[in-house]
Amino acid sequence: MSDESPVCATCGATAPDPALATITWTRGIENGRDVWTCDRCSREHLRSIEGKLDSAWW
Ligand SMILES: [Zn+2]
Repeated sequence: MSDESPVCATCGATAPDPALATITWTRGIENGRDVWTCDRCSREHLRSIEGKLDSAWW
């Protein structure tokens, strides 16, 4: 397990609390890497995420 703070791939925000982020943030796997999306961006891009579009599209 890593205790590194997740960084939102969409807005660049850093999770203030890694433990909380694992609950409220969305974690995806892209090209074998962890890709995090903060709770705010998750809501904003919900449709894109559900469409499983690549984050590069944003
Ligand atoms: Zn974000």
